Amino acid sequence: MDELYDIQSTRLVAPQEAPGDGEAEFSLRPRTLDEYIGQERAKQNLKIYLEAARLRGEPLDHLLLYGPPGLGKTTLACIVAAEMGVQIRITSGPAIEKPGDLAALLTNLQEGDVLFIDEIHRLSRQVEEVLYPAMEDYALDIMIGKGPAAQSIRINLPRFTLVGATTRAGQLTSPLRDRFGVLLKLELYTPDELAQIVRRSADILGLPCQPEGAAEIARCSRGTPRVANRLLKRVRDFATVLGKQAIDAECAKLALQRMDIDQLGLDELDRSLLRALIELYGGGPVGLDTLAAALGEEAVTLEDVCEPYLMQMGFLVRTPRGRCATPAAFEHLGMTPPSPQAQASGQQSMFE
Ligand code: ADP
Repeated sequence: MDELYDIQSTRLVAPQEAPGDGEAEFSLRPRTLDEYIGQERAKQNLKIYLEAARLRGEPLDHLLLYGPPGLGKTTLACIVAAEMGVQIRITSGPAIEKPGDLAALLTNLQEGDVLFIDEIHRLSRQVEEVLYPAMEDYALDIMIGKGPAAQSIRINLPRFTLVGATTRAGQLTSPLRDRFGVLLKLELYTPDELAQIVRRSADILGLPCQPEGAAEIARCSRGTPRVANRLLKRVRDFATVLGKQAIDAECAKLALQRMDIDQLGLDELDRSLLRALIELYGGGPVGLDTLAAALGEEAVTLEDVCEPYLMQMGFLVRTPRGRCATPAAFEHLGMTPPSPQAQASGQQSMFE
């Protein structure tokens, strides 16, 4: 996994947080639900739950946010804490190595606080078991001593809200998933929403962005605000050097072209995946491992980084027999899709 993040951090269109994102990402984060653009359905429901919890004077029920990286899960957790007027503690599944680490976090919470655990699907089983009574009864069961003299004592915890975030809801164990009262799925953003995000961020960064410039950046952002903000920062560099007073379409186009990101937000890795699939395997179906070996990449990188967006764009389909390129992928790369008959016979021969 760590290797995966290394590879992704070198890509401008990677949805994961990269080392350079940190500071600006903090200042670009919306602070209230009203500033949070898009995700209307999740937002409307969350508004009701927050209002109800406030009226009852109780903490919000435990909340699970799931969806691809960079869509605003951490941001939403911070907003929940701000709207409830409480503190937030931020940690992640891999950072909580031992049950004792989680116990320390939980016992330091104040009444009503939000505990945010990113990548919650990566918690170990032992740590998860400490979380169950904490979520259900606001209690911690601790064993003291060993052997026949061992005793279990129960420590009461302040009432808190756990906000869990995961990119892989399917990897969550069902006892953990069932303990969340509210499940919210975040969707990829539309180009219009991303353009609004780009314009808002550009204003915060101090160089306004014209609607056409924002639309160019939005189109290449893979439905992901983190990518949009990162591209905006690079486009801003070009605009600054060109002496522009605002980011316009021309400047955005030039910058994106120089970054080797095409009209639809595909970068070199995406394109080489499609090219390998088409040129080496006649458009598929081909197994993920074979494709990864042909590209010299890890299978997990292709699966987590390239495929979701290529599938969303309708360039790639996952079938039980392997990955296939769609006619749209052929067209995007300027190639002629094979006739349906040729494709059918090619696929047949692979299984003879
Ligand atoms: P995740 O936790 O899902 O990986 P983050 O919450 O860290 O994503 O969001 C990444 C960046 O994208 C944030 O810094 C924020 O600036 C921006 N962002 C995310 N969602 C929104 C939104 N709805 N409106 C405006 N900016 C957003």
